[in-house]
Amino acid sequence: MEKWPRRPRLVAGNWKMHGTPGEGASLAGQLASMLQPGRRAEIALCPPFTSLAHVAARIERTGIHLGAQNLHAEPKGAYTGEIAGSMLASLGCRFVIVGHSERRHGMGETDADVAKKLHAAQRHGLTPIVCVGETLAEREAGQMAEVLVRQVRGAYDGLEPGAARATVVAYEPVWAIGTGKVATVDQASEAHAIVRETLGRVTSRGLGADVAILYGGSVKADNAAELFASNEIDGALVGGASLEASSFWRIIVAAEGGA
Ligand code: PEP
Repeated sequence: MEKWPRRPRLVAGNWKMHGTPGEGASLAGQLASMLQPGRRAEIALCPPFTSLAHVAARIERTGIHLGAQNLHAEPKGAYTGEIAGSMLASLGCRFVIVGHSERRHGMGETDADVAKKLHAAQRHGLTPIVCVGETLAEREAGQMAEVLVRQVRGAYDGLEPGAARATVVAYEPVWAIGTGKVATVDQASEAHAIVRETLGRVTSRGLGADVAILYGGSVKADNAAELFASNEIDGALVGGASLEASSFWRIIVAAEGGA
């Protein structure tokens, strides 16, 4: 696995099920043309599987990373419609999102599935972006911390500290994803601190301080700088606002401290 810096600043775009390969290549090309020398934030693009190769061609040698939105836990076999980690790695993927709430809640992925995918990603040299987050009902019932602890424990239990350090977590409160409702800086910081503490308890003491935790949920150009000002927030997983080059770019600029 390529060396991964301690707690890097990372802005990752999750394009979800949007765009043809041509549209993806064009968006990636626009972003590549906006890059400035001396960048301080890592950038990752996570297009649909069908656009990976086209996007890869546009971001080659730019330093922008390629990511996928999901993988199957098994290395190969009779799994119609699924994609293995080795296939993603062979296309140049560096990252893969696991446990996105749209998969946990929309497709029935369990904590155990997420753990298997995390392991599978690492077996193929991919850095998993492990999504955790509570629903609105869970938050309103006062269960936010309990849910985060359960999800982090479910994904990381038994993982070697070195392997845990080579992951990224995305705290994505389900009620903030695609809704326009962004968590306040205090809400996000509190959740990130719980995730860090749990990572330390589940893997090795203090390890939470080494893992990048992104915030995700309606991050936009006009709220990014405020979120990134928190020491707890190491970057963002961005859905809607990553589908347009200038709005995604402004989030990257904010992550670099230049908002
Ligand atoms: C996401 O898809 O992970 C996400 C955070 O989406 P949005 O930014 O659109 O809320």
